[in-house]
This record gives sequence, C-alpha cells and structure tokens, in this order.
Amino acid sequence: GQCSVFCPTGAISEYDNTPEVERELESGGKTLVVGIAPSVRVTLSEEFGKAPGEISAGKFASALRMLGFQYVFDVQFFADLTIMEEGSELLKRLKDPDAVLPMFTSCCPAWINMVEKLYPELIPHLSSAKSPQQMFGAIVKSYFAKKIKVKRKDIYCVSIMPCTAKKQELRREQMQTNGIRDVDVSLTVREIARMFKKKNIDWEKIVEGEFDDPLGTSSSSGSLFAATGGVMEAALRTAYEIETGEIFPKLTFQEIRGLEKFKLGEVTIKNKELQVGVLNSGAAIHDFIHKFKKGDLQTAKNEKISNLIFVEFMACPGGCIGGGGQPRSSINILPQRIEAVYNNEFSLPFRKSHDNEKIKELYSEFLKEPLSEKSEELLHTRYKPNQRHEEAEVHKSTDTLSIFQ
Ligand code: SF4
Repeated sequence: GQCSVFCPTGAISEYDNTPEVERELESGGKTLVVGIAPSVRVTLSEEFGKAPGEISAGKFASALRMLGFQYVFDVQFFADLTIMEEGSELLKRLKDPDAVLPMFTSCCPAWINMVEKLYPELIPHLSSAKSPQQMFGAIVKSYFAKKIKVKRKDIYCVSIMPCTAKKQELRREQMQTNGIRDVDVSLTVREIARMFKKKNIDWEKIVEGEFDDPLGTSSSSGSLFAATGGVMEAALRTAYEIETGEIFPKLTFQEIRGLEKFKLGEVTIKNKELQVGVLNSGAAIHDFIHKFKKGDLQTAKNEKISNLIFVEFMACPGGCIGGGGQPRSSINILPQRIEAVYNNEFSLPFRKSHDNEKIKELYSEFLKEPLSEKSEELLHTRYKPNQRHEEAEVHKSTDTLSIFQ
C-alpha cells in the first residue's frame, strides 16, 4: 500500500512471519492468543474468492481456532479502549490552556514513523494513546494473564493486521516489558489466508464461531477504525458525550467519511465551534503538514482554518481498508470495502465505545478510569525523534510492492 512510502523500513515488503507462528502453534508450549483488527474481517473473504465486504468475523474466529489458537479476541475491543483513552486525552487538552493542540491521532505506525523521522517538532501534537494492536498485547499480558494465571512470558500473542508497518510497531522498545514484547508477532491478512489454505480450511464449510470473553465484545465505533475518518468519528462520539452528557448530534458524521484525501468537519462543543480534520494517503499528509507549519490551512472555500482541535492521519488510501497487508486488488475496490464497514455498523450491540459493557468491566476490575495511573502505564507511550537507519530484518521480502494492481 501507500503506507510503504513511510514505513520506517522503507518496507514496501512483507516479512513472512508465518513459519515462526506455525512453529509456535505446533509446539504448543505457550498459551496461544490471537486478535483480529477491525478491517481484516472485511477483507479476508476476498482471499477465498468472495465479493469484497462479505464480513466474516465468526468464520474468522472459527478458522483461527482450527489452526490451534486457544483464545481468539477482537482487536476491535481495543479500538474501543483506544477511544476511551484518546477521547479523554483530547478533553484534558481542551481544558488545559497550556496544552498543545490540535491533537494528532497516533494509531497508524507509518504516520508515527514519518513524524519521528521528518517532523519531530510535531511530536507534542501526537496522542500518547497506544494503537489498538499494542493495547491488545498490553492487556492480554497483564489483565488477562492474571485472570488465567499464566505468566506473561508464557503467552504468545499474535495480531492479524491490515498492515506491514504493524510488524515494526510491535518491535519498538516502548512496546516491550523486560525485553518481552506485548505482541509477539503480527500477521497480514495475506499471511493468515495462506496459513488457512495450507491447512485446507474450507471457507464454505466453516461454522460461525464467537470471540472469547472478556476481550471479544466491541461497539460499532471500534469497527469504524477500519476506514478513513473512523477513529475521529468514534472518538467524537465518546468525547462529546463525556463532556456534555448528551449524545453527539453527528452520530453519522458524513463530512469526514469517504475517499477524499483531506476532509474537514465542524463540531460544536458547549457553544464553541471547533474543527476536526481527516487525512488519508501520504501525499495529502505532507501537503497538510507543510501548510500547517506555515499557519496556512484553508477550507475548500479558501477560509482560514483556525479552530482545529483534532486531526486523524492514516497513511493508506481509504485508511486501513487499503493497507499494505490487505488482499491484493484494484484500487476501485475501496468504496465497496468502505461500504461494508458502514453497513456492518448496526450489527453490533453498542454504537459507542463507552457503552461497551466489557470495556466498563475492564475499567472497574482493573484500570479504574481513563488516564489513571494503570492506564498511563499500560496504554500510553511516548515518541522520540528518529534519525537512524532501520535494521535489515524487516526488509526481507516475500511479497511485492503494492496491493493495488
Ligand atoms: Fe497500517 Fe492502517 Fe496506517 Fe495503512 S493506514 S499504514 S494499514 S495503520
């Protein structure tokens, strides 16, 4: 995908992690935990010759159990958790006259690498909230490990992602505790599809399963992370309601949906008129940053953008649905994939992250509240300027350049 342009590694390529996962599944020495990202349930069926957007979370969960995973969780739950933390951070910044605004999202590692390398002066704008992938690993190896009475070193945690940059994100030193990574390995959709095919798993015959409890229930806000604008839409639903006690009037936030490369939305919170921005694709991001640094951002009608509080950055066209680890296809497929994300919104039990009962349970049993000491320790991170050249390991290529043919 386009994300490759900003991959720390320049990694246009996909390092094949399937052999090490297969070894771990065979040896069975560890507790085997897997989680699937919001966008991969939308695209996996394409690998089995289906039309884009035949959403298959239940079949996906069953197929992962057939491979030998013991616990199948939903990274969408952790997208909800990201929203709780990031939305609360936004509100905190809005109340602090000295805080840096606008806040920038931080769940796209290709974007983070770009800031650390090219625009380190923007680091204070980045939300400190970890990405859903990293919150998944951090909670599995603390809260969940304790629940099942297994040591963190005895858990093997695999994420299924739309993205090649996620393979590097989990290797960051901030994403490890005592040298043990929170997420051990990240597989792309293409890699997991190869593993299913190797095991002769017949897509037609798989019976729909369920995710495991307690990290398997999500709201539809979590599901929106799959598409451009989704993180913003989900975060505002929660931040607005926490702040005002009222339901966000733009529960379907049309202006920030769709494939336009830069989208601007208006939000009124407690009589203040504010703006939010959404970017997808690398070229649009560079253009935005240059104008932002010059104080020269304008609306489509050439009016100055002056009340920008929050901006979402995704390096891939269409967001993660167009990520570098997705099934290869024509770029024309993106609208269909995005449509599937929005159509699926109403099939989930909650529409807002803070309504998710399992999220409430995690806070009451373990984290206490967003931005608590425990939340800061496990769910937040820091960034630093990066001038160094990347290690070679993730360069080894088994795949070619773009997912778009
Ligand atoms: Fe990865 Fe999504 Fe960022 Fe693309 S937009 S680099 S798939 S996190």
